Amino acid sequence: MHHTSLIATIVAGLGLAFIFGAVANRLKLPVLVGYLLAGVIVGPFTPGYVADQELAPQLAEIGVILLMFGVGLHFSVKDLMAVRKIAIPGAAVQIAVATAMGVGLASMLGWTLGAGIVFGLALSVASTVVLLRALEERRLIDTDRGRIAVGWLIVEDLAMVLALVLLPALSGMLGGEAPPPGPGGVAGAFAITIGKVAAFVVIMLVVGRRVIPWILHRIAHTGSRELFRLGVLAIALGVAFGSAALFGVSFALGAFFAGMIMAESELSQQAANETLPLRDAFAVLFFVSIGMLFDPTVLLREPLAVAATLAIIVIGKSLAAYVIVLAFKRPQSVALTISASLAQIGEFSFILAGLGVSLKLLPPDGRDLILAGAILSILVNPLLFAVLDKVLPRLVGRSGEPAAPVAAAQPHGVLVGYGRVGKAVAQGLKDRMLLVVIEDEGERADAVRAAGFEMIQGNAVRPEVLMKAGLAEATHLFVAVPSPFEAARIIEQARAANPQVKIIARAYTDNDVDLLTQMGATHALIGEQEIARGMLALAPRKKAAAVAAH
Ligand code: AMP
Repeated sequence: MHHTSLIATIVAGLGLAFIFGAVANRLKLPVLVGYLLAGVIVGPFTPGYVADQELAPQLAEIGVILLMFGVGLHFSVKDLMAVRKIAIPGAAVQIAVATAMGVGLASMLGWTLGAGIVFGLALSVASTVVLLRALEERRLIDTDRGRIAVGWLIVEDLAMVLALVLLPALSGMLGGEAPPPGPGGVAGAFAITIGKVAAFVVIMLVVGRRVIPWILHRIAHTGSRELFRLGVLAIALGVAFGSAALFGVSFALGAFFAGMIMAESELSQQAANETLPLRDAFAVLFFVSIGMLFDPTVLLREPLAVAATLAIIVIGKSLAAYVIVLAFKRPQSVALTISASLAQIGEFSFILAGLGVSLKLLPPDGRDLILAGAILSILVNPLLFAVLDKVLPRLVGRSGEPAAPVAAAQPHGVLVGYGRVGKAVAQGLKDRMLLVVIEDEGERADAVRAAGFEMIQGNAVRPEVLMKAGLAEATHLFVAVPSPFEAARIIEQARAANPQVKIIARAYTDNDVDLLTQMGATHALIGEQEIARGMLALAPRKKAAAVAAH
C-alpha cells in the first residue's frame, strides 16, 4: 500500500475538497472553507485516514508555481518597474510594522526577542495563492491596483528568501541554536544571497528573455498542440525548480520570472490557457495541505493569543498598508484593495515557522498560533473582499476619483466588453444609437473613453454595474464578453431588471446558445458561424461560367 501514497493523497485531497467545496458552495460559503476543512479531515489531528504529510505540501507547491507562472504571464518587465516605487517601500514598511507587532505580542507571551522576530516576520508575508485567487475572482490582476498588489507580494517574497537564509546565520545571536557559521558569517551569508538573487535576475532577463520565447515559437511551429502544452509546462516547472536549486530563490519567484519572460511573446495568452486546468487543480491541493497542518485544539487552548495573532494579520497589517498607499497619494479604492489582499498569511509563514522551531528560536506554540492565524485569516479574507465590494462603489463616487458617468436616462444601448468583438460593435453603432459601454479592464476602459463613448468601468456580473449603465431604460444590451458563464449571469440579471430589453449575446457552441437563451437572451450568435457567413460573403455568388453553362 505504501507505494501508492502519492495517488492516495491526490485522490483523497481532490475528492474531499470537491465534496466539501460543493457543500460550502451550497451553503453560500466560499469554496475555500470546504477545501480547508477537507484538509483538516485528512490531517493527522482528526481520526481516520491521514494523507501523506510530506507529499501534500509538495503537491501544493506545484500549484504555487503554476499560479505565479500565470501571474508572470500577465506582467511585463515594464509593469514591474512601474509599480516598484510604491511596492518596495510599501512592503518594507508593512513588514517592519507587522514584525514590530509580532515582537510585541511575543513579549506579552513571555517569549524571547528572537522568537518575536520570527513570529512577526511570519505574520508579515501574505500568501500568493490566496491573494491571486482573490484578485482573479474580481478580475483585478490586470488593473493598476492588481499590479501594485502583485508587485508588493514579489517584494515580500524576496524579503522572505533573504530571511530564510539569514535566520540560521543570525540564530546564535538571537538566542537560538547556532549552526556552524558559513564563510564570512552573517555578512557573508547576506552577500552570497543577494549575489545569487541578482545573478538569477540578470540571467533570466538576458539569457531567458531570448531563449524562452525562441523555444516557444519553435514548438508552436511544429503545429502540435500537445507538444506546445508540454513545452509550456516544462519551461514553467523547469525554470522554477532550476532557479530554486541553483540560485536559492523561491519556486514562486522562479516561476514568476519564467512567466514574465514568456509574456513578451505573442503566444503568452495561449500558454496561459494551456496551464489553467492543471493550475486550478493543484491550487486546491494547496488549501488542503494547509488544512492538514491545523490542530483545531489550539483554538481552545489559547483563544486569546489566537485572537491577537489574527488581529495583527487582519487589522494591523491592513491598517499599515492602507496608510502607506494613501501616503503615496493613491486613491482610497487602491488602498482598500491592497489592504484586503494582503490581510492574510500562508505558505511562506509556515516555512519560516518551521525553520524557527527547528533552530529552537520559536517555541512550538508559536507555530500553532501562526497556523491558526493563517487558517482564520484565509477564511476571513473573502469576507473582507465582500465588504470591499459593498463599500467601494460608494467611495468611488465621493472621493474625487473619476465618478461614474450618469447613464443616459433616455433610450440607449448597453454594450458589455470592449475587446475584439465589442470594439467593432461599438464602432458600428456609433451613428445608430446612444451607447454606454461597460468594460472591466483598465487599459481597455481608457480606450473606450478615448473613442468618446460613455463608460462604466467594472465587472458587469455585478448587478450594480449593470444598473449604473442605465439598464432599466436601455432598449438593447450587447453582451460581448468571452466567458459564456459570465455572459449567462449578466443576461439573467439584465432580464430580471428589464423584461423589454433586446439582448444580443456572444456564444461559441450550441450549448452556449441554449444556456444564454434560457437566461433570457433574444439572440445568441456563434462566433464560428459568423465567420462562415463572412467567408461565404467573400465567395462568388454563382458557380463559375464554365460550370454554369453545363
Ligand atoms: P475579446 O475577447 O477580445 O472580445 O475581449 C473581451 C473584453 O470584454 C475584454 O476587454 C474584457 O476586459 C471584457 N470583459 C470580459 N468580461 C467582462 C465582464 N464580466 N464585465 C465587463 N467587461 C468584461
